[in-house]
Amino acid sequence: MMTCKEVLESLSEFVDEDLKADVVQAMHQHIGVCSECRAEFDTLTMTIKLYRHYETPQMPAPCHDRLVKVLELEKMKKKAGQSSSGSEG
Ligand SMILES: [Zn+2]
Repeated sequence: MMTCKEVLESLSEFVDEDLKADVVQAMHQHIGVCSECRAEFDTLTMTIKLYRHYETPQMPAPCHDRLVKVLELEKMKKKAGQSSSGSEG
């Protein structure tokens, strides 16, 4: 049976998929009985999953182009609204 320390030390290798099958099995055994390590394991794997999911938030060029145009249009609209002065007083 692995100790908590060993499991925690192996976690980073585990997420890199850089562990031998028997080590992975030993970790799962420990996690099955140790709620503290299981919590660590869950947090880490969840973080990695989210990170991988949101890793490429790059906007495609045509989309960016359109966004800029929309923003320019909004600016122009605002300007036009300001220039038409109502009667005051
Ligand atoms: Zn443990």
